[in-house]
Amino acid sequence: MGLLSLGTPLDWNDAKSHNNHVRKNGIEQLKNIFNQHYSRKNDNFLWGDEIEYMLVNIDDENHTATLSIDKDYILDDLNDESKSLYKSIENNISFHPEYGRFMIEVTPAKPYNGNLLSDYLYVEKNMNSRRNVSISELPSNILPLTLTAFPRMGCENFTTPPSKPNGPASQSLFLPDEIINRHARFPTLTAKIRERKGHKVAINLPIFPDVNTKVVDDTIPKRNLFTSDIEPFIGAALPGHVYMDSMGFGMGSSCVQITMQAKDITEARYLYDSLAPATPVMLALSAAAPIFRGHLVNQDIRWNVVSGAVDDRTFIEKGETPYPGYNPFGALDVDSESKYVEDSPFNEYGEYENLKTKDGKPIQRIPKSRYDSIDSYLGGSKFYDSKYNDIFSPINPEIYFDLINDKHNHFDEPLARHFAHLFIRDPIVIFSELVNQNNKTMNDHFENIQSTNWQTLRFKPPALYSGGEDIASTPGWRVEFRPMDIQLSDFENAAYCNFISLLSKAIIKFQPNFYIPISKIDENMRTAHKINSAINETYWFRKSWNLSIAEFSSFGLEWFDRVLGTSNGAVANGSTNGFSNGVSPDISVREYEKYSSNEIINGNHDFPGLIKLIVRTIAEDFVGDNEINSELAESLLRIKYYLLLISNRASGKTPTTAQWVRQKVVTNPLYNHDSKVSDEINYDLIKDTIKISEYNNDTQELTNFLGEEIASYLTNQ
Ligand code: ADP
Ligand code: MG
Ligand code: MG
Ligand code: MG
Repeated sequence: MGLLSLGTPLDWNDAKSHNNHVRKNGIEQLKNIFNQHYSRKNDNFLWGDEIEYMLVNIDDENHTATLSIDKDYILDDLNDESKSLYKSIENNISFHPEYGRFMIEVTPAKPYNGNLLSDYLYVEKNMNSRRNVSISELPSNILPLTLTAFPRMGCENFTTPPSKPNGPASQSLFLPDEIINRHARFPTLTAKIRERKGHKVAINLPIFPDVNTKVVDDTIPKRNLFTSDIEPFIGAALPGHVYMDSMGFGMGSSCVQITMQAKDITEARYLYDSLAPATPVMLALSAAAPIFRGHLVNQDIRWNVVSGAVDDRTFIEKGETPYPGYNPFGALDVDSESKYVEDSPFNEYGEYENLKTKDGKPIQRIPKSRYDSIDSYLGGSKFYDSKYNDIFSPINPEIYFDLINDKHNHFDEPLARHFAHLFIRDPIVIFSELVNQNNKTMNDHFENIQSTNWQTLRFKPPALYSGGEDIASTPGWRVEFRPMDIQLSDFENAAYCNFISLLSKAIIKFQPNFYIPISKIDENMRTAHKINSAINETYWFRKSWNLSIAEFSSFGLEWFDRVLGTSNGAVANGSTNGFSNGVSPDISVREYEKYSSNEIINGNHDFPGLIKLIVRTIAEDFVGDNEINSELAESLLRIKYYLLLISNRASGKTPTTAQWVRQKVVTNPLYNHDSKVSDEINYDLIKDTIKISEYNNDTQELTNFLGEEIASYLTNQ
């Protein structure tokens, strides 16, 4: 999303009366988008990434590292023609606001060309520029760091300047409203989620049990400022868990996202579906968040924190027993006829019988947060079968039938289902200036609902254009890959981004069949949360990819050594597994099995592994018969190291960021084995992360973290 236009958010009561208006017109806009763009063909494979930085104030005198919450003016300056916009333009980068006042999001200004090898190398350079330009606008003690979660967010004195948690938007016991972006959209989102829900969000992460860890969290204040202050003591906070009560804990964390453009809508649907089973695996391999609110936790990633942090479902929508004295309907305007009984029955659309809001919309049972894994495949490919969409996922039936019956026939069952699911949600923020829109030329109502459904993948249709534009040159049908935690260095982030964009290119090229039931992907998502899930766990994945293993067998990472002449001859050219030719037989009736991430990434006897698909794509599409001159050789070498990083994390040769961070804490002499991450430990940890990042390539630390081979390549550059 670009810089936000100023607007006046409607308060909850006014906004509520427009909910159906937004949904209804949003769907009209969607239909118009389809009418305008459905038949576009042969768009280029373009892609781009998004990196979210935290501005961290490092105080070397007092040994503290805190979130800087008063330097957000750099965002305005870097978008201001009379100030520093020229730096953004010169470097082809674009600065965007994010949830936290301490956050900035930076993307390439123009997307990369996925058909040019040089652009895959340019990604990391572009990321370097983003840091350098940000630094040029900041005092020297403040660094833009790519941390997934700030370890002491929500502890005492975690901001500079200091701020107190007593703000009306979040009512948080831990997070001051001063950490929230100043644009009205963000405090409004925060307040609206709480108001709709009827209570504060409640996220409970199991504390990592160490020898001196206390079961009862003594860091929850007993305050008497808002009525919600009582919540942790009447059921919101679970014993043995780190309790968090505000949107900022999740939306104040950072991730890396990658958007790819497909040649047409059919290819985009297939790409979306094919990437879905990879989402939990890549999440596990990107794990970077073992600390929340000053505690080591018994998991390694941020996902369920963000999911809980923006979960605006009421007790009844979740099917939960309300806290004593709390309204099960939250702020939903319930029809006076509505009767709530425990375990009220609901129909196939999730609609509770006899429970309606005053505007006539039935109240639904909703199993997932707005921020969660995808609910269904988009279909449209020859491998798709409706049996894979096997989870209970409520839809908005009115919208479903409206789309299915649309006279242009643009929406088949899975596509209609996808949008009808997104449109079960209420808009969270409505700006008064945008209530009335021309549905032929504006798509803000559609985007309002679409962009507040934060799933592991996002199917991004094009925008609406009023005419005059050359439609073929506007952004087309895109797929966004959203699950991953962010990495500490540009090298790593470039590696993960290139992995996903090259994998997408390979998927489009080789047309594998990756379908497994959505319920299995959801199970994998839960698995991915566990400590060191990259190597300790296994994941459901499709057994036969409908590809010949033999045709990929010579495209392991050793392919690079062969073409670069750096091979030691040890790796045989040819099959490295039991199958010598043909498509691997699907001997079991079951289409899917559990595999380690090592198998999924590096291959096994059932399938070639994702890396081989990528390497063969590079070999055929970028190298071909070209002479390997020094420039090409240098490029291929760096790409090899990008892929090696993912390969090594999958095989367990090198730790994930989360593992490295956890190790840093538990081996810190100041650590009391009570799961607590003090100010001093936090400072030491942040200093160590800086050793990994671009600012200080410390050979020893890099070797511990990335392994000898990658570290020596990076430090000998
Ligand atoms: P959002 O926050 O809605 O996901 P952003 O604008 O922050 O969107 O990021 C979108 C990413 O998509 C950026 O990296 C951008 O460079 C990239 N991008 C822009 N246009 C295209 C396109 N036509 N195809 C693929 N990627 C694109
Ligand atoms: Mg963005
Ligand atoms: Mg973002
Ligand atoms: Mg995005």
